[in-house]
Amino acid sequence: MSTSTAVSGRRKSGSSKQDKPDNSPLPGQAISARPMAGDAIYERILGSIMEHRLTPGTKLVEEKLAGIFGVNRTRVREVLARLSHEGLITTIPNRGAFVASPTPEEARNIFAARRLLEPALLRHLCEQTRPEHIAQLRAHVAEEARARESNDRRAIIRLSGEFHIRIADMVENTVMSKMMRELASLTCLIIVLYDSPTVPACTHDEHGDIINAIAAGRTEDAVAAMLEHLDHIEEVLDMSAPPGEDEDLEAMLGMV
Ligand SMILES: [Zn+2]
Repeated sequence: MSTSTAVSGRRKSGSSKQDKPDNSPLPGQAISARPMAGDAIYERILGSIMEHRLTPGTKLVEEKLAGIFGVNRTRVREVLARLSHEGLITTIPNRGAFVASPTPEEARNIFAARRLLEPALLRHLCEQTRPEHIAQLRAHVAEEARARESNDRRAIIRLSGEFHIRIADMVENTVMSKMMRELASLTCLIIVLYDSPTVPACTHDEHGDIINAIAAGRTEDAVAAMLEHLDHIEEVLDMSAPPGEDEDLEAMLGMV
């Protein structure tokens, strides 16, 4: 996830003088030995979920994470509490924290919520569309196309989700933005759990159709295109597939 997109509710406690705006390294980039700030750890875990590196059901051991990020367990616990609050992590008493593994029913509920939220966001955006919105969305889709050309699956998945978050951010309603961000992250978990490996999360053609309708001021066409798009994402999921498991937490977090 882009580090330029501010996440609300940051930094209530646990900040030290060393905390700086998140500058978390990209996957594959060298990691500094300096302790990571809570926000940076949060972004790292969230990014790893969005890119399908950190898979549903993975156990997040506080002590191990503290070692990986070079921080104390209190800071790890704060980050895990925040992710838990957003539904991305499940805490089981006496067993610990795990990356959430939405059931088929929960998955359907998440799509139902998106079908309510995203048309509303589009209607708001269509009322206040500025040329730069269209330019930004088109640039985003061009980036998706490039990721597809180079067959960069992680980037494809991340950018797919971010397209929807960008629309929400343009509406400038922080509550709706936060909801969209959480739903997009949860959708990423659902896709990694239930997607057929050959099917991409979002097709950029459909994103393009949505942008064209917004640009032309055809609000209802934009809404219809979005609903159809959400149907397509849900249709390709195989809810009978068992959750996957992996063990290398450090690699999943892009810290090696
Ligand atoms: Zn999409």
